[in-house]
Amino acid sequence: MKIIAIGRNYAEHAKELNNPVPSSPVIFLKPDTALLKNGDSFFIPEFSQQIEYEAELVIKISKEGKHIQEKFAHKYFEEITIGIDFTARDVQKNLKEKGLPWELAKAFDGSAPMGEFFPKSMFEDIQDIPFRLHKNGKEVQSGNSSQMIFTVHSLISFISTRFTLKKGDLIMTGTPAGVGPVQIGDKLEAYLDKELVLTTPIK
Ligand code: ZN
Repeated sequence: MKIIAIGRNYAEHAKELNNPVPSSPVIFLKPDTALLKNGDSFFIPEFSQQIEYEAELVIKISKEGKHIQEKFAHKYFEEITIGIDFTARDVQKNLKEKGLPWELAKAFDGSAPMGEFFPKSMFEDIQDIPFRLHKNGKEVQSGNSSQMIFTVHSLISFISTRFTLKKGDLIMTGTPAGVGPVQIGDKLEAYLDKELVLTTPIK
């Protein structure tokens, strides 16, 4: 499986990092070795002094497809959750300055904790799903998929023109504003609407 992640899909988040709002989706990949399960600890890697959380709505692809039309995209996923796109912000800053790819900052081992998956049928509208992230019991991020620049269906359509989507692939759809640092001893908890779906201790 592969993890396809979207950068700058919320205008407020693009603004907080002084990035332009994109006219087509910003895309990067994470390998399967980036995955962490609900409850697994995240160990801060020694190559970064600035690891930041980004809570994101995650779509799990349920069948293979390429060149999927937007109007059929809803047939290609059944389950969703919240994941964290851990980012070595100091490393990313360096790479961005040099115009280099982001993988060293975003695709390292353990950089993608994934929550428990829930059926999308729990929600009436995929573009109206509230989610939030707590750090040490305090809310640090709160977003709604209604704030996305590129909708879930348009992302599936666009991505599938470049990468064949396969069953089990995950799409991380971008983070809302409020990203921030973690340190050893912190605990992150992500909520899909009212459901606690992911707990990640930081070690
Ligand atoms: Zn992200």
